[in-house]
Amino acid sequence: MPSYYNFIIVLVVLMLINSLVVPGLSEKKITDTDYGTFIEKVDKGKVKQVKMDEGKIYYSALNDSNEEQTYQTGAVDDPDLVNRLLASESPNENGKIEFTKTIPRQNSPIISFLLMWVLPGLIFFWIFRSGSKMIQGRMGGGENVMSFGKSNAKIYAESEIKTTFADVAGQDEAKESLNEIVDFLHNPQRYASIGANLPKGALLVGPPGTGKTLIARAVAGEAKVPFFAISGSEFVQMFVGVGAAKVRDLFKQAKEKAPCIIFIDEIDTIGKKRDSRMGGNDEREQTLNQLLTEMDGFNGQTGVVILAATNRPESLDSALLRPGRFDRRIQMELPDLEGRKAILNVHLKKVKHENINLDLVARATSGASGAELANIVNEAALRAVRLGKDSVTTVDLEESVEVVIAGAQKKGKVISDEEKKIIAYHEIGHAIVAAKQKNTAPVHKITIIPRTSGALGYTMQVDSGDQNLMSREELLNRIATLTGGRAAEEIICNTVTTGASNDIEQATKMARAMVTRYGMSEEFDMMALETVNNAYLGGDSTLTCSPEISAAIDREVLKMIKDAHEKASQIIRDNLDKIHELTDYLLQKETITGDEFMAILNKK
Ligand code: ADP
Ligand code: MG
Ligand code: ZN
Repeated sequence: MPSYYNFIIVLVVLMLINSLVVPGLSEKKITDTDYGTFIEKVDKGKVKQVKMDEGKIYYSALNDSNEEQTYQTGAVDDPDLVNRLLASESPNENGKIEFTKTIPRQNSPIISFLLMWVLPGLIFFWIFRSGSKMIQGRMGGGENVMSFGKSNAKIYAESEIKTTFADVAGQDEAKESLNEIVDFLHNPQRYASIGANLPKGALLVGPPGTGKTLIARAVAGEAKVPFFAISGSEFVQMFVGVGAAKVRDLFKQAKEKAPCIIFIDEIDTIGKKRDSRMGGNDEREQTLNQLLTEMDGFNGQTGVVILAATNRPESLDSALLRPGRFDRRIQMELPDLEGRKAILNVHLKKVKHENINLDLVARATSGASGAELANIVNEAALRAVRLGKDSVTTVDLEESVEVVIAGAQKKGKVISDEEKKIIAYHEIGHAIVAAKQKNTAPVHKITIIPRTSGALGYTMQVDSGDQNLMSREELLNRIATLTGGRAAEEIICNTVTTGASNDIEQATKMARAMVTRYGMSEEFDMMALETVNNAYLGGDSTLTCSPEISAAIDREVLKMIKDAHEKASQIIRDNLDKIHELTDYLLQKETITGDEFMAILNKK
């Protein structure tokens, strides 16, 4: 039954009550008059009908323009009134005033009590309930079983989760930690008999797309227990108290189904630090308080394990992290080279493929998360279908890596020959500066085919292994490589273009980090000048120094970039012949591999 149905019934009942209270003539507009006017109208023979009620007299009479109108006046103790009415004339056909008196209802005190106090209460309750039902229905509650103090949505436990640890590649440390939980869920008695309490909760922490949600499901799949999954945002409702009720409900259901797993995804939505800043957020704080209470409310042997995931651990309220709550923290990291190979393998199992050079693809995707790798494999499969092939090859994967990094090829874009030449010199400039320095990643590919991301060309460098540390020299070389494109434009084309904007941004960021965070400048030694917020989400940073130091930082950064630019320019000037040769080749081919590039460069 749609919930607005209730609402309509309430309205109808209200209308009925209204018409009971104002008897008879209620449909018409009623004008107030005094008793004198009433008597005057009676005497003048204008009155047609009189209805005497308790304390009130309603009458209809002709007004000054001879139209019938309804009036009311307060009843006065007037024993003469009946005689006067009988004696007076009236515009009625029989010349008599019609008059009646309502019989006073002698309600029993109980009934009047019910009518006065209980009925309005019930009606309000009804209105409120159907009102909130309507709103919640619209907010996506769907079929709901709301009543006071209960949440509207049924939280269903998934009982047969197919995901297992085999679907989660890499992340061995995380799996190891979680294995204990799996074991506990398999045979809680064993832990209980020794008196060991398992951690009630484990918090999965890491950058987006590293498989936090995935591994939580895998724990349930491994343990073969019901899985209550809910996202933090689902608790935050419009009405204060609903989120808290939902938490209560969730734990109640979970305890009935124990052993089981409760998984709260994106817990930072409700678990943010409570602060005293203006207003606060009552609903969120109540929900959080309820969660804390519930976590304290069962002992570690109940068989309910709570997993939660977040990519903003630093924003969580410390009460959540204290022992007895989420006291176990499981770190999910971006995969390293081996991890990326493993993840690619897991996802390649789902598509037909042949002769994949896994190593090459894994090296080209340094810094990619599990979710991005899954996406790359899927893009490759889509490309294979588009090209009418029946299995995925390395080329498909390489192309889809580029699609994910730089967007799809934009073949239709018209670029003049003059511009094309500048773009080619720019890219060769990057490549040659990279190749002529030591300690730089080898050039993997150079292309001047524009991409949908706006890149008109790019030079891809791929590290040969996994790099955990970067030295000062390597960073400076990288900055020099970034300035190489612009340096080639200046020296060879005698111009500067907007094509270097991304290079400039990256070079500046890198130089800044060297000064403010890595302690790689002479002037500031090992002083931290910046703190990073939200390390897992892009990592914006805040300066923590005086304005004077801030200005000095800028000077230091500028000096670093200028030196790098000068170094790159020198390399360009020293290799002009090779650059012309390589650019001609690139213009002709549009895309060249690192090997082709090195062959020409090293040719005597
Ligand atoms: P998170 O919750 O950390 O943001 P998800 O668990 O939602 O990330 O991961 C999204 C998708 O990425 C998964 O469904 C899976 O396909 C893929 N993925 C991420 N990490 C891994 C991994 N370690 N092994 C296999 N697939 C992964
Ligand atoms: Mg997630
Ligand atoms: Zn560039």
